Amino acid sequence: MRALLPTVLLALVWACALLPSGHRELQGSGTREHEVVLPPGGSTGLEGGEHSTLARLKLHVLGVAQDGGVPHLGCRRECCEAARQEGLRLGPACLAVVNHASRKSLLIEATPAMEEQLALLPDPGDPRRPVEGILLTHAHIGHYAGLIQLGREVASASSIPVHCTPRMAGFLRDNGPWSQLVKLGQIQLEDQAPGDARSLPGFKDLKITPIAVPHRDEFSDTVAWRIEGPARTVVFCPDIDRWEEDLLARLIEGADVCYLDATFYDGRELPGRDLSEIPHPPMVVTMDRLAKEALEQPGRFRFIHLNHTNPALRDPAIRAEVVGRGFAIAEVGESVLLD
Ligand SMILES: [Zn+2]
Ligand SMILES: [Zn+2]
Ligand SMILES: [Zn+2]
Repeated sequence: MRALLPTVLLALVWACALLPSGHRELQGSGTREHEVVLPPGGSTGLEGGEHSTLARLKLHVLGVAQDGGVPHLGCRRECCEAARQEGLRLGPACLAVVNHASRKSLLIEATPAMEEQLALLPDPGDPRRPVEGILLTHAHIGHYAGLIQLGREVASASSIPVHCTPRMAGFLRDNGPWSQLVKLGQIQLEDQAPGDARSLPGFKDLKITPIAVPHRDEFSDTVAWRIEGPARTVVFCPDIDRWEEDLLARLIEGADVCYLDATFYDGRELPGRDLSEIPHPPMVVTMDRLAKEALEQPGRFRFIHLNHTNPALRDPAIRAEVVGRGFAIAEVGESVLLD
């Protein structure tokens, strides 16, 4: 079983999290060889694998928290007061696919912590083109508000393709300040309806497919992303209200690694609320549904988008329980080899 990694250590490894030479394999937990690589200082005590220094196509985790991050504005509880005292910061859920041969990156979510998150990636050289594309899941602040940094006041970016649903694209096109990014050609909207697969030539023909999921859809609809590399497929579903019908089975089908909504652990974060009424499937519900698959393939299901109050961020007993059942809690700096 993996040793426990206190949350505070995540902050310490943050700055060097993506240095290729320091990666460690997650073989100790039974994850298939070379599938997920943890950041240096991470949980296994094993040394880096053979692929770690090669220029390859990899998916990197840049953020693991819910939209508000940690510490969370206005929270005076222990979860955030301790983080403030320790200088710990966890950014909202965010992934990147990096073609290490060309040093080009594709960002999955444009979070309010976009600057710190992009700083973890290789420098692409062109300040007006910090990434080659952005995939968005929906119009809640932790997932798209970082786009504003691409505007005149900051990066003044040049034609960055933004892949999102037609409804999300319409929201950005029709509402300021986002509309200005479109008008000035700083972003280029690439409407992609749910189920519509596209391939990206600059990323070894990486196939990206949005999958519709139920969520609180005030301004846009919501999708999960399926990201298919030449060798491995990753699914990213940070926000979902419930696992209706066969949605969970369809999402994970054929996926080697799945990053799944872990906003709440078991409802204790919202005292007095009926578990069945809480939007977001609690982690305990998802773990029950995937119990068999997780034991068969430990590390395949990785929790992300943890609310600041979620005890799985810091409670050693809960973290041990999650890992003991074959699941993992995503860590900033971990990576998945896609080719
Ligand atoms: Zn969210
Ligand atoms: Zn808090
Ligand atoms: Zn949301």
